[in-house]
Amino acid sequence: MIEIRELHKYFGEVKAVNGISFTVQKGEIFGFLGPNGAGKSTTIRCLMDFIRPTSGSLTIAGLDAQRDSVAIKRKVGYVSPDVHLYPHWTGKQHLDFVERLNSGGSWRKELVKRFSLKETVRAKNLSSGNKQKLGLILAMMGKPELLILDEPTVALDPLLQNLFYESLKTYQQEGGTVFISSHNLSEIERICDRVAIIRQGKLADVDNVATLRKRKMHMVTLRLAGKAAMPDPTEFGKVEIISRGSDQLTFRYTGEINDLVKRLARYEIADLEIAHASLEDVFLEFYKN
Ligand code: ADP
Repeated sequence: MIEIRELHKYFGEVKAVNGISFTVQKGEIFGFLGPNGAGKSTTIRCLMDFIRPTSGSLTIAGLDAQRDSVAIKRKVGYVSPDVHLYPHWTGKQHLDFVERLNSGGSWRKELVKRFSLKETVRAKNLSSGNKQKLGLILAMMGKPELLILDEPTVALDPLLQNLFYESLKTYQQEGGTVFISSHNLSEIERICDRVAIIRQGKLADVDNVATLRKRKMHMVTLRLAGKAAMPDPTEFGKVEIISRGSDQLTFRYTGEINDLVKRLARYEIADLEIAHASLEDVFLEFYKN
């Protein structure tokens, strides 16, 4: 559905995208993961023909991103991180407009209901989360062949995020393809089949999410009850100690969380915190070379 070959995009001295290639298959939810400034939006803006690449080729459904950009727009639903709306128009006016402009709105009613969109409010009076919600409905309601989503969940609260993930799964079941960028590893892990990891304009990896999950890292902070001796965390598996006090231990753990919890069950624990390691930590661990 998407084919990117040797894409370079320079802004003067800044090599925003520096020679990336990958393909997205029809029917998959494909994540484009990387920290802020990695080159995700630049790649997406080239795909949408909002900006032109320095070199390289991009195709969508076999169509050239530049030459066939109008035809591509008919097949694609796009959401930017900052949704642009007509301030004086209500949600309904936006929905009516896009329904007439595009290939209809076969999914409109269901999405408006699912997301509880208040259609009568003018865009200028919507919160950023509600603007993003409206942007997502506008992109999805015509059931396009492909959804290109650039950090679509930044303004959504967790409840709305879940509704959105469910809608993406429904869309996929009906044959749709999703290309979604994010700096949020857990989001990508949760919804995507495959992922391309970009860092400083270069691809670090393209992998199945199942494989990525095996490399999963967590930050673990453990406080023991009473005067029990601190465990030696290296016995838990692949561990890097971050700090060790008399009753508190913080370490980075790479491996199955289930194994770790089983090993910790032997101890009298006063408090335990297990968080996803930041994407930066994952990068540092796996791509430092
Ligand atoms: P991401 O979407 O991964 O956060 P971007 O693609 O927005 O990253 O940016 C990649 C790099 O390109 C950053 O260093 C950013 O500052 C730079 N950049 C993006 N757009 C422009 C532009 N129009 N002019 C100059 N530099 C830009």
